[in-house]
Amino acid sequence: MKTALVLGAGGFIGSHLVTRLKSEGYWVRGVDIKYPDFSKSTADDFVIADLRDPLKTSVIMFSPYRYPFDEVYQLAADMGGAGYINTGYHDADVVHNSMLINLNVLNQAHRKNIRKIFYASSACVYNEHNQLDPESPNCKEDSVYPAQPDSEYGWEKLFSERLYATYNRNYGLDIRVARFHNIFGPEGTFDGGKEKAPAAICRKVAKAQLVDEVEVWGDGLQTRSFLYIDEAIEGVRRLMNSDYIEPINIGSEEIISMNNLTKLVADIAGKDIKIINIPGPQGVRGRTSDNRLIREKLGWAPSQLLSTGLTETYKWIANKIES
Ligand code: NAD
Repeated sequence: MKTALVLGAGGFIGSHLVTRLKSEGYWVRGVDIKYPDFSKSTADDFVIADLRDPLKTSVIMFSPYRYPFDEVYQLAADMGGAGYINTGYHDADVVHNSMLINLNVLNQAHRKNIRKIFYASSACVYNEHNQLDPESPNCKEDSVYPAQPDSEYGWEKLFSERLYATYNRNYGLDIRVARFHNIFGPEGTFDGGKEKAPAAICRKVAKAQLVDEVEVWGDGLQTRSFLYIDEAIEGVRRLMNSDYIEPINIGSEEIISMNNLTKLVADIAGKDIKIINIPGPQGVRGRTSDNRLIREKLGWAPSQLLSTGLTETYKWIANKIES
């Protein structure tokens, strides 16, 4: 039986990944500083541990079997949506916490002879000057240098990508690096300050009356693309099973403005919503995935319509709010 260690398994993507690996027959250990927020982890073994601590990171890397873990998935990070990473209030914690996690994880993975490790990077690594036009931002993988991410979160991700590359170059660690573009879906955070745009908008619309107003940060013309969780996990598994070691986008190419995203959610909910644009953190002006490389290297790219995943997500959030 193959064994996998999922770091950040109490989080949104990590908890879904554990379930996918279990369905493929893996023995899975999940690690996090907390249990998943909405349902019990499906991991065979779930360890509460702080990966900023080198000793704890060392202990959780020992597989209960005689051999090292076959695969490690590193998703643990101090992160959140624009309200968390684009305000500047959390920068020191974001960089310090995630940097320590990545330093410890790589050092211990190398020491424990782990061969294959996945790292969850982000579209936030891309140069803000290439994302000024909301209609046609450039997020092609090789446009990342010269670097100018718009947040410290993005700088940490970019430096960590480099850190993973050094362990590949000097110690032969087999790395896979995904730049996720706004992953959303059921069981994702939808309130409390760390939620991302699709979840926040679903929450606002779910709480609204049949005819009501909903606040959207900025002028609402800023654009993003959003990828449903199932396709994100599919991309991770396909990347892990490939031999491609350079950073690669895992995201959707269906670009949409925040105002239009709000209208789409309102349509799904069957509500008559008037958008009120208010000042708020927005991040870059436009961002969407460029899937040319993933198509070329993996022979696959996400294809599901945003409205399909959003319908599932809205139902789930509305249900949580009602209950
Ligand atoms: P998440 O916040 O739900 O999951 C991250 C998990 O890491 C959390 O459960 C958190 O408790 C855990 N963690 C934080 N500090 C820890 C520590 N010191 N020790 C152990 N665990 C710790 O986020 P997510 O949306 O599931 O994202 C997973 C990964 O993907 C993150 O690295 C994130 O930066 C990256 N990413 C996500 C998105 C997205 O849209 N969700 C986009 C780009 C990149």
